[in-house]
Amino acid sequence: MGILGDLRSLIGEDLVLDPESLGTRAAGIGRPEKMVAAAMARPKTTEQVSAILRWCNSNGVKVVPYGGNSGLVRGTLSRADDVVLSLELMNRIENIDGAQRSALVQAGVVLQHLNDAVSEHGLIFPLDLGGRGSATVGGNASTNAGGNRVIRFGMMRDMTLGVEAVLADGTIVSSLRPFIKNNTGYDLKHLFIGSEGTLGVITRLMLRLRERPAESNVAFVASDSFAGMVGMLRHMDRALGGTLSAFEVMWNSFYRLVTSPPAIGRPPLSQDYPFYMLIEALGAGTDQFNAALEGALGLELINDAVIAQSQTECTGLWSLRDDMSQLNRHGVHITFDISLPAADMERYTQEVAQELPDLIGDHQLYIFGHLGDGNLHVVVGVSLGVYPEAKAKVEQLVYGKLKAIGGSVSAEHGIGLDKNRGFPLAGAKRKSH
Ligand code: ZN
Repeated sequence: MGILGDLRSLIGEDLVLDPESLGTRAAGIGRPEKMVAAAMARPKTTEQVSAILRWCNSNGVKVVPYGGNSGLVRGTLSRADDVVLSLELMNRIENIDGAQRSALVQAGVVLQHLNDAVSEHGLIFPLDLGGRGSATVGGNASTNAGGNRVIRFGMMRDMTLGVEAVLADGTIVSSLRPFIKNNTGYDLKHLFIGSEGTLGVITRLMLRLRERPAESNVAFVASDSFAGMVGMLRHMDRALGGTLSAFEVMWNSFYRLVTSPPAIGRPPLSQDYPFYMLIEALGAGTDQFNAALEGALGLELINDAVIAQSQTECTGLWSLRDDMSQLNRHGVHITFDISLPAADMERYTQEVAQELPDLIGDHQLYIFGHLGDGNLHVVVGVSLGVYPEAKAKVEQLVYGKLKAIGGSVSAEHGIGLDKNRGFPLAGAKRKSH
């Protein structure tokens, strides 16, 4: 019968899409090419996932698990003879337990939908990232997503109490208990979280919820030194008594990019400082937040600050940080997601900036990210004509210097197909691509 017919007979005609109907879907976020596959299976239950994987395993068909398609490392890129296993119809929130502060959900639940649902119970699921409107919690777990609030709540791994997953041969394994503490042997969930589908497909999750903070405060500040920025992180964390929930940083060029036309954002502070920070506290009183900022100005850790006075102003400041579309303004961009020690960050970024002009000529360099987590995003924009030659050179520069200081080539985006060169485990698993 062929792949399409066999899969349809396993889980139902309407749950398997043919190659033609996939032609309207992009192969990945911001990618011009369309998705290709032999079929897209869209199961509704764990048992159906099991049946699909068992069939594909027996017939030697490769499977690409597919969540919200918001990843940045080509983790869901499929080929014409692959089966794409989309969890998009497994989007049920099965239970929200206020007393236990946990949620049992299917893997295809969209992050934003989960947060909307738990907020009715006075709770939050604190994972927050730019793709919140399309990213699914299953994808968040399989890539161990990070985002904006890692400094306070950790990564997806730290918010996941249990997972159910299906192995390649169709075996269902489950550890869905809602306990924060459970020391009865191996902790199965940690094997699957961050393994990007190489060990199995996550189908359901037990997630840890938190109380919704009564107050939220956001400020945007500027500093004329990198040392001031590091000092500011420590000062605010200390002064806010554990309520610091985001400490996002932008180098000058990124700030100018997102606050100048054609960007919608306008500069809340002068565009002449070398460094900017977006600081959020969840649960601190406004007086405490304002006093912490005044203290920082007094200590000359920062040179200027603006405090959001309303939810609209909060949203406006966050939208500067989230306006990734501006990166597409000039040609193509080469994106990096790196971790490195704070002590090496200033010298590292200066050296990269100094060496780029000789290496590739005309370019734009944007640096921003999550200073509190030691995670920076470095973006180099080049014209289409010099890409991919420039890409190879820039990767050599960025990764070469990173290796010398023991940094990580993937902080929160994962490996996908983009970074599996030189990554022995992923390379071995995916050598066919
Ligand atoms: Zn990030």
